[in-house]
Amino acid sequence: MTEKRLLDTLDSFVSRGIAADLWLRDDDATEPTTALDRLLALSDRYAVPMTLAVIPEPTGDALARRLDSADKIDVAVHGWAHQNHAGPEEKKRELGLHRPKDTVLGELRAGFEKLQILFPSCFVPMLVPPWNRVDPDIVEGLPAIGYRALSVYGPEKTAPLALLNTHVDIIDWRGTRGGKDHDLLFAETAERMVAAEPGSRTTGILTHHLDHDETASAFLDRLFALTANHPGCRWRSAGALVEEAGSAA
Ligand SMILES: [Zn+2]
Repeated sequence: MTEKRLLDTLDSFVSRGIAADLWLRDDDATEPTTALDRLLALSDRYAVPMTLAVIPEPTGDALARRLDSADKIDVAVHGWAHQNHAGPEEKKRELGLHRPKDTVLGELRAGFEKLQILFPSCFVPMLVPPWNRVDPDIVEGLPAIGYRALSVYGPEKTAPLALLNTHVDIIDWRGTRGGKDHDLLFAETAERMVAAEPGSRTTGILTHHLDHDETASAFLDRLFALTANHPGCRWRSAGALVEEAGSAA
C-alpha cells in the first residue's frame, strides 16, 4: 500500500479535527484536446475542482465553448503568449525585465481582459507565470491592473497580493518527462500537507495535461480515489481560495 503515508496523514488530521485544503492547477490550455478531455473527465468523476492556467494570446472561442459545460473548472491567466524573452544562457522567462516593464504589464492586462470576457463565469483574477518565473518588479504592478492573486511553484514568499502556490509537480521534467513515481508523489503530498498546517496554507498539485502519460494520469486517478471523500482533506477551487485570502487580508 504505497498510499499509506498519505492516508495516515489524512487520518491523523481527522483525529485532530482538522482538514487540509488541496487545489489543482493545470497549465498550458489553449484549445480543446483529447488530453484536456481526459483531465476534465477525471474532475467530473471525482467532483474535484480544477484551475486551468490558460495562455491568453492563442486561446479563443473553442476552449470557451468546451468549458461552458464543464463544472468545477476555474480559469487563470498563464502569462500572455508563453514566449521566452530570456537569453540562451538564462532560464526561460516571459515575465522578466528583458523588455520594458510597461510592455510586460500591458500584455498581462490584455490577457486578463481577454480571459475575463471569454470565460465570464469561471475567471479568477490570478496570474500563473509561464515557467513559474516572474520578476518582483512586475509582481509589484499586478494589483493595479486587477490581479488579486499570484501562483508559482514552491514555498510561499511575501508578495503584494495573495499567493496560491503549487507544491507537488506530477511530471518528471528532468528525467522521463512523464509522470513521476507514485510513491514519491504520495510522500511529497503528505509532507507538504503537514508543512502547510491545515487551516493556514494549501497544498497545490501541479499538472500539465498535454504532457500526461499513463503514469501521470494513473497517479491523479489514485490520488482522487484516496482523497475525494476523505474527511481529512477537501479539494478547493482557486476562486474560493482567492476569495478567502481577500477577505482575510
Ligand atoms: Zn506553462
